[in-house]
Amino acid sequence: MSTISMKKHYRLLNPFNISDKQNSPTHIRYSGLILEPAIANFFTGRIWSRNHTPFPQQKIDTYINRGYFETVPAVTTKPKLICRRCLNEQSYKFVSFHCAKCQKICHYCRHCIMMGRMCSCDELIIWKGTDTRKQKSQVQFAWNGNLTSHQKKAADELAESISQHKNHLLEAVCGAGKTEILFSAIYDSLKAGKKVCVASPRTDVVLELYPRFQQVFQKITIHALYGGAETNTQFAQLVLATTHQLYRFEHAFDVMIVDEADAFPYIYDEALQSAVMKAKKPDAPIAFVTATPSKKLLLQQKTENWGSSFIARRFHGHPLPVPRFQALWNYEKALQKNKIPQKLQAWLYQRLQKNEPFLIFFPTIELMEQAKPLFQKIESTIESVHSEDPDRKEKVLQLRNEQRKGLLTTTILERGITIKNIQVAVVGAENPIFISSALIQISGRVGRNVQYPTGDIVFFHHGITMEMDRARKKILEMNRHE
Ligand SMILES: [Zn+2]
Ligand SMILES: [Zn+2]
Repeated sequence: MSTISMKKHYRLLNPFNISDKQNSPTHIRYSGLILEPAIANFFTGRIWSRNHTPFPQQKIDTYINRGYFETVPAVTTKPKLICRRCLNEQSYKFVSFHCAKCQKICHYCRHCIMMGRMCSCDELIIWKGTDTRKQKSQVQFAWNGNLTSHQKKAADELAESISQHKNHLLEAVCGAGKTEILFSAIYDSLKAGKKVCVASPRTDVVLELYPRFQQVFQKITIHALYGGAETNTQFAQLVLATTHQLYRFEHAFDVMIVDEADAFPYIYDEALQSAVMKAKKPDAPIAFVTATPSKKLLLQQKTENWGSSFIARRFHGHPLPVPRFQALWNYEKALQKNKIPQKLQAWLYQRLQKNEPFLIFFPTIELMEQAKPLFQKIESTIESVHSEDPDRKEKVLQLRNEQRKGLLTTTILERGITIKNIQVAVVGAENPIFISSALIQISGRVGRNVQYPTGDIVFFHHGITMEMDRARKKILEMNRHE
């Protein structure tokens, strides 16, 4: 094939008409290899297992041989063990074993094993070809809601920071309407052809945001990535992902937004934090969005001179519901003897009588499962949910659709869930798992709807803790703000 006809051929298969002159291996036009947009679309910004891609292996190998990919070992061993996928360097998180594949002592990283096991003789591939992100965006903004003056101010500040490549901390109480505040910054970025990621430590948050973003940002591809989601090979300009899924990206995003930045496991996990940094381009701004920023985040905002916004008001203008404390002595023993403590039972009957949906939080799965049959005897539609429950999404939906009266739950539902007129109880609020930010988030489930701006939030306890006090103080403090 002559150079000219090859050029023509190539252009046909390159619908975005992207020039390869600057970014690609120089031999591209003479290699005889026809670049498939699907490959470039999928791999741009990703770091992926060489042997487990959505494409035929032979094709991938050909591209590698032609220099389109850089290959790196999944785990480097010298000078020390580092997982190239999640950047974990903690030696106790690596496992050494006699590997059947390479017939040597091989190492794999336990830290990111939920993404599939990768050991030192496995390879990761990084796309070095055309950057498909340069395509023009067709995005359409289809939202005609109104922002409150507080929201508008924060939205403008955020968009300003992002446009100036500046990091930003958005601190907004539960129910301030954080998602709507993000819209204009995201839209501006998408319009400019930038690739945007909204990451959250919680699958539930990704699931809740996905349909809303699909409605608001039309004519573009949006991906929701979480454990168990299908691998989609199209190019997505907007990616909603759990922070774990970011392990598979490298220098991919022009704008990074971390929602619920303080949520477990993100705050406890250095590797997840570096995954966020790795997934974005080095100069891409990052915005942290949270109702309960950690001390570290607040300090960083100050010392590194980030932009910041603060909203103490809910979008409907009503104050945050303040938790009340109620002693529930020896509740564990009672439940173990198959008895629901009287005050808790009275609370439950009140909800049922008034036909109010409810959530009851438990500190452990064991205690919750012990309590479940007792609750079901009173009301058969009551169910329990926890992080490993495969039917979690469905049960929450059933609560929303009034097919269930209430749910028992672990802290898994502390955020990302909005249900009209929900009433909330925490059983065992003194348990160390209920740190103040968790208790604030749990309280934040109540009174989110403009038609039902109030509701009951009760902390049943076996002794009041500092964390409980701290949570209530912070909520009262927010309510004093204008
Ligand atoms: Zn790893
Ligand atoms: Zn091996």
